[in-house]
Formats: sequence, structure tokens, C-alpha cells
Amino acid sequence: MSAMNNPPVVLAISGLDPSGGAGIQADIEAIAAQGCHAASVVTTLTVQDTRNAWRVEAVDPVLLVEQAEAVLADLDVRVVKLGLLGNAGIGAAVADLLERHADIPVVLDPVLVAGGGARLAEDPLVPVMLERLVPRALCVTPNRDEALALVPGREDADACACELAGLGAAYVLLKGGHDESTDVVNRLVAANGEVARYRFKRLAGGFHGSGCTLAAALAARLARGEDPETAVQLAQQYVQLTLENAYRIGRGLPIPARFQGL
Ligand code: PLP
Repeated sequence: MSAMNNPPVVLAISGLDPSGGAGIQADIEAIAAQGCHAASVVTTLTVQDTRNAWRVEAVDPVLLVEQAEAVLADLDVRVVKLGLLGNAGIGAAVADLLERHADIPVVLDPVLVAGGGARLAEDPLVPVMLERLVPRALCVTPNRDEALALVPGREDADACACELAGLGAAYVLLKGGHDESTDVVNRLVAANGEVARYRFKRLAGGFHGSGCTLAAALAARLARGEDPETAVQLAQQYVQLTLENAYRIGRGLPIPARFQGL
């Protein structure tokens, strides 16, 4: 096969969820479903199922940076997708890595807590995200809780999203899945205010791995060369489809059916 036919490459840097619902496996599947190739570097090994997480073990940051550098030296990585980073040491190592590859766009899913409520990341990661990773991101994808946790002292997630965009992220996609509104309303915000608003039918119950799936699909659509607003729109449509077809593989939350064409 000639290089001309190669799928665009997304480098996913995130944690391993052995249930296969969230984390790096969600990323790989969502990226593949957009017709892209996923390269993957694992930040943390978790003990978890579809209900909750019980343990998070961080990988040595030197090792994971070595893995990422090897991939970046060999593959034509178009977009980097960041998921669970786990601690400040990994966050800083990844920020250093991205400084050395300043031309590659970054999608940052600021994962702090599992769907079941377990904390997945240590507190000192938050300032590293704010000072080094949010400003480096083309798009940050917090839900309401993550937006509020990232910007302390605010009670309004919309204001938090604007503040995050003010730190230098070109876009913040504030997800409304955890809100109490009848429909799910996601907002795309830039430093100068709201760019777009998306409304989706709220599906009953929660899902395990929906946030990872959205951020990874967005990264892949950007890797395909779509402009950010189109990529955001299509990634959300794709995720809605995966949630409409979600399946309950364990005793906890259903997981997105990621092999959907769009
Ligand atoms: N990343 C990892 C490694 C996880 O284990 C989880 C799990 O809960 C998440 C991210 C967040 O998952 P979600 O997409 O449900 O927000």
C-alpha cells in the first residue's frame, strides 16, 4: 500500500480501563471508526469495571515519553488526544513532549473522576492542566463537573468554559450530559464567547466511556482535515449514535457501540 492511502494517525495518550468501556480502548475504537489509525500510549493502569474504579497505578513518565517520542519519530501523527493523565508528573512530562512537537494539534479531555464517582487523578494535576495543557489545546472537552473543578471559585460552568478558553485553548466544548436539562445541550466556546450550541435528545441513564469516545472521535475528525467546528459537530453526531446503540456488557453502565459509520 502506498503512503498516499494511509489513514491519518492520531496518538492517544490515556489510561487503561480493563472493561474496555472507557480509556485507551475507547479511544482506539472511536479513532478507528472515523477511518483513522490510532497509536496509543498508556498513562495509567486502572482496576475498574463498568460500575466504578478502585485503583489507579501510574506508568513511569520517562517510559511513556520514550514510547510517545518513538511513535512521533516514525509515524506522521496529525493530532494528539489526551485522556486520563493521572498525576502531575505525567501531566508535566506530556506538556514537555508537546512543547517539542508544537505543530501538532491537541484535544484535551480533562479526566479527573470516573463515571461511578471514583477519583482518577491526583489534585496537583489540575494546575499543570491549567498552566500547560489547556493553553496548548486546540479543544478542551470538560463536562460541567470538570469545568468547575478546573476553575476554582466559580459556580457557573459556562463562565469556567470561557475562562478556560481565555487561557489559550482555541475552543472549549462544554458537555451538558451531567446537567439536569431536558435535552443535552453542549456549548462550543472560544475566548471571545459562545461559537455554537448543540442540542441532543437526552438518553436515559448514564454511559461508561462516552467522554473518551467524544474526545477521540473529535481528534480523529480533525486528523482527517475537517475544520474544528465541523469536526466538533460530526464527532457529537457520531457519539449520539454510539449511545443510542449502547450495550450493557457488565452490571454497571452501558458502553457506547463505537463501530458506527457516519
Ligand atoms: N479514562 C479512563 C482511563 C477511565 O478509566 C475513565 C473511566 O471512568 C475515563 C477516562 C472517563 O470515562 P468517561 O468517558 O465515562 O468520562
